[in-house]
Amino acid sequence: MPNDPGAADGAILNATDPLDWLEGELRSLDERSLLRRLATHEGPQQAEINIGGRTYVNFGSNDYLGLAADSRLAAAAQLAIAAEGTGAGASPLVTGHSSRHQALEQKIAAFEGTEAALVFSSGYAANVSAITALVERGDAIYSDSKNHASMIDGCRLSRAAVHVYSHCDASSLAERLAATAAQYRRRMILTESVFSMDGDLAPLVQLAELAERFDCMLVVDEAHATGIFGSRGRGVCEQLGVEERVHVRIGTLSKALGSAGGFVSGSRQLIEWLVNRARPYVFSTALPPATCAAAAAALEIVEREPQARQRLLAQAERLRSRLREIGPTVGASASQIIPLIVGNPERALALSARLRATGLLVPAIRPPSVPAGESLLRISLSAAHNESHVERLIAALACRS
Ligand SMILES: *Cc1c(COP(=O)(O)O)cnc(C)c1O
Repeated sequence: MPNDPGAADGAILNATDPLDWLEGELRSLDERSLLRRLATHEGPQQAEINIGGRTYVNFGSNDYLGLAADSRLAAAAQLAIAAEGTGAGASPLVTGHSSRHQALEQKIAAFEGTEAALVFSSGYAANVSAITALVERGDAIYSDSKNHASMIDGCRLSRAAVHVYSHCDASSLAERLAATAAQYRRRMILTESVFSMDGDLAPLVQLAELAERFDCMLVVDEAHATGIFGSRGRGVCEQLGVEERVHVRIGTLSKALGSAGGFVSGSRQLIEWLVNRARPYVFSTALPPATCAAAAAALEIVEREPQARQRLLAQAERLRSRLREIGPTVGASASQIIPLIVGNPERALALSARLRATGLLVPAIRPPSVPAGESLLRISLSAAHNESHVERLIAALACRS
C-alpha cells in the first residue's frame, strides 16, 4: 500500500508490504527444487487419473483398495445426504454427534476388537488429539524418527519432553528409555505401523516388550495398514499379534477406507477421556454424517472381501522383486508403499517428470516430507491397479539409465 500523505501523526511512514518476504522465500524454495505446486485432477481418481486433459496411471493415491470411487460407498453417502443433509452443523459435544457417528464408532470398535472407538475429522486430528490428551509437561514421548508430521505436531503441542529414537530401532529406543524413563511421570512410545514414505514396518513386538518393561503407553498409528494388514484387515498390530499390548490404536478413514476422517480405538475410558480432553475433537465440527455412512460401508467391504488386500500385498511383493532385479533401491519396504530412493530432490523431480512423460504418475517426495538426502519416488500400489499398469511402470524404470 502506498503511504497516505494524510496519515495521522505517529503513523509509520514508508511502510512496506509486511508479506514482501514471501517472494524471496518462494524463489529460494524453487531454486532448491523444493517448491511444491498443486496439480488439479478432473473426475474420480482410481488406478488412473486425469490431469490437464491427460490420463496417467495413478501411483500417487492412498486409496489402496480402490474404494474412494466405489459405487457402494457413494450409494451409502447419497442415502445419508438425502436423509440428513451435508453438514454436521456443530462440534460433537454440542449437537454434531449423530446416530451416523455413533453407528460408525460402534462398527469401528467391533472391527478393531476394542471396547470403544472415536471418530475425528481427520487422521491428523486423531493423532494430535490422542497425543496431546495423554501426555503433558513432565511426561515424555519416545518417537520414531520417521513418524508422520501429525504425530510430530502432536508431540510439540503436548509440551511433553520428546526423545526421538532411530527409525525402527528397538535397541536405540531401549537405550533412551534406560537412560531417561525414570525422570518422567508418564511415558509414551509413539510409532506408525507401516511408515508412510518408506513402506517398512515397525518392530511392534519389541516395542510392546519395551513398553511393558518401562511402563509406557504404546500408541500405534495404523494409517497405512488399516484395511490392508492382518487376516481381518485391522492392521499390523493384528498381523504381529500385539493388539492386546497396544494401548491406543489410531487409524484413518481416508486411505484404504476411501472416505475421510480418522479414528482412535481402545478402552472405554480412553475414549471418554478423549471426548473430554482432545481439543481438535472438542473444538471442531463433527464429520458430515454422509462421510460416516461411506466409511461404515467401506468397513463392511473390508470385512467381506479379504481377497482385495491379499492380492494387493502379493502384487507389491512381486513389484519389489522385479524392481530389485532392475536396480532401483526400494529400501526396507514390506507393504503396498514402495519407495524408489534416489537421494537428492533434483533427481527425484527429474525421474518423476520422465515417468510422467510416459503417462505414469509417481510423485517425487522431497524434504520436509523426508529427511535431506532421502528424496524418493513413492509408488503407492492399489488393488485397483491391474497387471498391465504395473508392467508399464516396470518397463519405464527398466530403461532408466
Ligand atoms: C495420512 C496420515 C495421517 C493423516 O490422516 P488423514 O486422514 O489424511 O488426516 C496420519 N498418520 C499417517 C502416518 C499418515 O500417513
